[in-house]
Amino acid sequence: MTDVEKRLEGYQRLIAIARDLASTLDLDVLLNRIIHAATDISEAEAASILLYDDAARQLNFQVATNLDLQTMRGLIVPLDGSIAGWIVTNRKPVRIANAHQDIRFYQKVEQVTRFTTESMLGIPLITKDKIVGVLEVINKHEGMFTEADEDLLLVLGAQAAVAIENTRLFQQSDLIAEFVHELRTPLASIGTATYLLLRPEMAWEQREQMIHNIHGETLRLNTLASTFLDLARLESGRVQFHLTKFDLSPLLEECVQVMQSRAAEEQITLTVEVPAGFPPVEADRDKLKQVVLNLVSNAIKYNCPKGSVSISAAPEGEFWILSVCDTGLGIPEKSLPHLFEKFYRVSAYEGKAPGTGLGLSICKQIVSGHGGSIEVKSRPGEGTTFTVHLPKGV
Ligand code: ADP
Repeated sequence: MTDVEKRLEGYQRLIAIARDLASTLDLDVLLNRIIHAATDISEAEAASILLYDDAARQLNFQVATNLDLQTMRGLIVPLDGSIAGWIVTNRKPVRIANAHQDIRFYQKVEQVTRFTTESMLGIPLITKDKIVGVLEVINKHEGMFTEADEDLLLVLGAQAAVAIENTRLFQQSDLIAEFVHELRTPLASIGTATYLLLRPEMAWEQREQMIHNIHGETLRLNTLASTFLDLARLESGRVQFHLTKFDLSPLLEECVQVMQSRAAEEQITLTVEVPAGFPPVEADRDKLKQVVLNLVSNAIKYNCPKGSVSISAAPEGEFWILSVCDTGLGIPEKSLPHLFEKFYRVSAYEGKAPGTGLGLSICKQIVSGHGGSIEVKSRPGEGTTFTVHLPKGV
């Protein structure tokens, strides 16, 4: 095939890819399609996308054909001293025959991934003057990356950048619409309470009640706003997980301490059981703690007086599991499929305990960010068990 024919074939593939990219608004699906298209058109061994976090001035690995989610989550590439950083700063492509001979090459990624980079081609992902990230293809199957590869990748990159931005905007607007909807109820009750307070015929006791209502709803709005921000940041994929190795028992004991007084109010017993010799786990400690606190808090909130909550851990093949088991109200079968949806609450329990309906969505985001999964088993009237599966190590 001549060079011209090759180029034509490349452009034809790009047209097909453009249609494909436009057909999804799911960020993960989209990014995966882009990297597979990139390896395909440039005949490379691997490809990856790093998204740029302008607040932290760093790049985060988002997808790669040769890395799993767990490995990628721990990988941060600094702006200074990396080829991807150079691409962002200079907004220009880079094409090199041997990455190891380039002083900008950031060695740390290779130490973690154990993947050897030889030739590479990287381009900036830019839309409307804003830099979104970097698309890299690594190790050309035969020879070196050519100018023609660079041209093709730049066209793909331009489409990809627009698609990434669109997807993000769509996600945000979707999320904002749900949030605004959730604001309506507390705002309406504050509105009613202030209207009534202005009526001269209201007795002092009634006024006091109104003020209490306003105070309560304001607190609720505050919690809703901060929890919502937490979730929005996790969903945007821009939150970085800081993986460390640590012992599980002290973490679980800390969670029990935080929750003890709330449990005592209802005479609920909290127990922790970690088998002797349980090896240290590798995870983002603060985020794992947030998951445990959320699950234990629910297990107390939706429990019965004098009930119990047991937290336990156990190894399971390549994974380890963490369970939070309660003797509480249980969850109606028809609610189970919706439990991890944003803002979902079992309507029958809404009056029983305050909540936002976001806690379990946050847990799910954190757990899947670690390459794990979360599931629930429940019997109404008997109790509920949440089980988190997490991979043993990177
Ligand atoms: P919330 O802030 O409402 O507690 P979550 O997202 O943490 O929000 O939980 C969603 C809903 O799932 C809760 O409102 C409750 O109806 C139900 N739920 C969660 N955990 C339990 C549990 N341990 N027992 C019974 N119901 C639960």
